[in-house]
Amino acid sequence: MGLQSLEVADRLLRYVQVDTQSDPYSDSFPSTAKQKNLSKILVDELLAMGVQDAQMDQYGYVMASIPATHQRKVPVVCFCAHVDTAPDCSGTNVKPILHENYNGAPIILPDDPTQIITKAAYPYLKNFIGKSIITASGKTLLGSDDKAGVAIIMEMASYLMKNKNIEHGCIKILFTPDEEVGRGTEHLDLKKLGADFGYTLDGGELACFEMETFSADGLILDIQGVIAHPGAAKGVMQNAIKIASAIVAALPKNEWSPEHTQGRSGFVHPNQITGGAETARIEFLVRDFDTTQLKVHAERLYTLAKEVIASNPDFSKAIVKMEIKEQYRNMREVIDQHPVIVEKALEAYKLVGLTPIVTPIRGGTDGSRMSFMGLPTPNIFTGMQAIHSKHEWIGVADMEKSVEVLVKLVEII
Ligand SMILES: [Zn+2]
Repeated sequence: MGLQSLEVADRLLRYVQVDTQSDPYSDSFPSTAKQKNLSKILVDELLAMGVQDAQMDQYGYVMASIPATHQRKVPVVCFCAHVDTAPDCSGTNVKPILHENYNGAPIILPDDPTQIITKAAYPYLKNFIGKSIITASGKTLLGSDDKAGVAIIMEMASYLMKNKNIEHGCIKILFTPDEEVGRGTEHLDLKKLGADFGYTLDGGELACFEMETFSADGLILDIQGVIAHPGAAKGVMQNAIKIASAIVAALPKNEWSPEHTQGRSGFVHPNQITGGAETARIEFLVRDFDTTQLKVHAERLYTLAKEVIASNPDFSKAIVKMEIKEQYRNMREVIDQHPVIVEKALEAYKLVGLTPIVTPIRGGTDGSRMSFMGLPTPNIFTGMQAIHSKHEWIGVADMEKSVEVLVKLVEII
């Protein structure tokens, strides 16, 4: 395959210089208008390639179609990436650096020499000795999450538009805003998109394939204490702050928490506490790959809370109530109903010489939301590393391999 002249690295170097940081405190959509600056560039570039229907809507979603090159009836596949970068780390004035023929030494980022990328911290760097990697300059993130995905999809589009002898069905392209603030699908019109299934390009290491996310609920414990004037409270007051504290203190110490679980284990995580002496509220995140377990976690927590109250005479008149709020669900529940999506992707990996690494994501993705909206959407690798940080970096070879996977994939669908 003549992919030697890939320009995917040049694309990434250009796209990361456009500030597209999203804002979790904004009520507008997209959360920051500047995200549209990159979306406009992408539309212009697609039009220049000959992708005639490329357009951005009022919300900043970019949609485009690469027409089929054969007449056979095959599913319409969509490739999707998000244009925004994480609020965790500055995305203003990103100065990407291409390190060609990387020699394996620690990389001291020039704009802040305390920022040093080492093989000890990132063993995956060893794979790129003698090859090219891209970093930021020390004061910002790089933004390969997810502009690597954007660059890979754009490069695939460019390659297919130049090589119309490659046989494929209709391909849709989707670039979304606000993924990093969990709102990327808020105004997404899947009917307008018109795809049968999709793939996000938002994964990490070479050959990774992700079709499973957490299932997630929010749990709220509302504690009603008994208030009294502190000067006349003896035997009366039941302090909701103390009850809430006792419940948090009663959580297991070495298990059942984010800081003590990995792999396929779920957890509960107190992430917000508010209130006063009369009432208090503890909000928890509950996560598991098995959706039926969410209920088990919730029951365990509620039982623990009630036991804390029952076992302390000072809490005897207090009441605790639990509320469960559904957040998102493991996309595997949807994807398992459409096995061809996974089979074709893994076949494409193998055809370009990769051994697929199928791992669950300990979080949610826009893909999981899209899957439940009716567009089953697993996740393909891009190569991005140390995301959301000043150490963020990416190996050019991984991005090139990802383009190769996409080109192969559209041929075999
Ligand atoms: Zn991402």
